[in-house]
Amino acid sequence: MSAERRLLDDCFLHDRDRMLHAEVLALISERLSPIVSKEMVALREAAGRILAEPIAAPRDVPFSDNSAVDGYAFAYADYFKRNTLGIRTRIAAGDLASVEIGKGEAARIFTGAAMPAGADTVAMQEDCELSQDGSTVTVPKGLKPGANRRRAGEDVPQGSIAIEPGVRLRAQDLAAIASFGFDQVPVYRRLRIAVLSTGNELVEPGSADRFQPGQVFDSNRTMLAALAETLPIEITDLGILKDDASLIARTIEDAAGKHDVILTTGGASRGEEDHVVTTLDSLGKRHLWQIAVKPGRPMVVGQIPTDQGDCVFFGLPGNPVAVLVCFLLYVRPALTILGGGQALEPVRYQLPAAFHIARKKTDRREFLRGWLAIGPDGITRIGKFPRDGSGLITGLRQATGLIELDEAVNEVREGDRVAFIPFNEFGL
Ligand code: AMP
Ligand code: MG
Repeated sequence: MSAERRLLDDCFLHDRDRMLHAEVLALISERLSPIVSKEMVALREAAGRILAEPIAAPRDVPFSDNSAVDGYAFAYADYFKRNTLGIRTRIAAGDLASVEIGKGEAARIFTGAAMPAGADTVAMQEDCELSQDGSTVTVPKGLKPGANRRRAGEDVPQGSIAIEPGVRLRAQDLAAIASFGFDQVPVYRRLRIAVLSTGNELVEPGSADRFQPGQVFDSNRTMLAALAETLPIEITDLGILKDDASLIARTIEDAAGKHDVILTTGGASRGEEDHVVTTLDSLGKRHLWQIAVKPGRPMVVGQIPTDQGDCVFFGLPGNPVAVLVCFLLYVRPALTILGGGQALEPVRYQLPAAFHIARKKTDRREFLRGWLAIGPDGITRIGKFPRDGSGLITGLRQATGLIELDEAVNEVREGDRVAFIPFNEFGL
């Protein structure tokens, strides 16, 4: 068995019937760890990948003191005594500043050019007056020592760790790495994920000519493929499986050997036609099943041992709304951690509700489809998609985020503060 892809045997502690949202998250963050190896990739290919080693600056950035403006460089101690200086040399960006500036002297200097020895302060050219013959310059009074000079190492001092492992590399992180002079970066390899749908009623979009009553176009795999774009993962699409226990078992067993993670939708309940849970029980270990969250119940999580190591299994419900919510809330942080990243809690905004909910069941957490609405009074409130059905993709589309009602809430009156998580917290 390879060392990578091995999870702890008791990866998840509980196997209770209904787990609370916070317990699910705690389980994910405490019990999962990276299961992927590291690889070097070209910096230009590294956007969105997860950094695998700390990146320290091999030298000061910037490398030398340099001018922040076009102007004249001189010694502050000298300028204190006189402010008309002889122009000794000219230093453009990229030039070696080899001439030392002496008493009564200045260097013509340009933005980004290295400061010459003997100079520590720069006057902006707009504030200076050049003599007729261009041989001397009069610099303005009142400059502070070190004005308009960038210090070596002021961005990042040599040896300091600028970027910690686990960071998902953004444009600005890559810019920092480039500024250190690296053109390669160590990242975790992408998680390999197999995705499949289960359901006798499901057919592929595109087969409309054969579409019959009772059938449903599979929308989950399209949604999951797009969600995959928001993470450094590689998806294998295993298509639609009929609700056939042995077909599902064979497919999952085969996929487990070749993937880090299997993600299924549909068939995750206890019904006669639901075979995902029994399959997982026969092939591996189930860790959590029912969660006290709406939508989301049932969601099944487990692991399947293979010769190549353990494969993590997520069986999501079939309803598209539940698929999106479960993916964003649980699968996404789990994949982030398995892939070597830091799973950050999404930011919640507490804002007044523009809706009313007469009754909510306590002891479960609910995530509703909502949006920010700025009223004529200028106050931002949270609007809610009025219908409840977890098959309604329209609500997901109208929404710009999730409204979160925690377990204790039993009623929401207009104006009550509720938590709102914008979808962009999940990279959507
Ligand atoms: P299940 O979880 O299998 O009981 O399915 C719950 C509901 O979700 C049913 O109405 C299914 O038809 C629907 N459903 C399941 N899988 C998909 C899918 N891949 N795309 C769209 N709807 C689905
Ligand atoms: Mg089904």
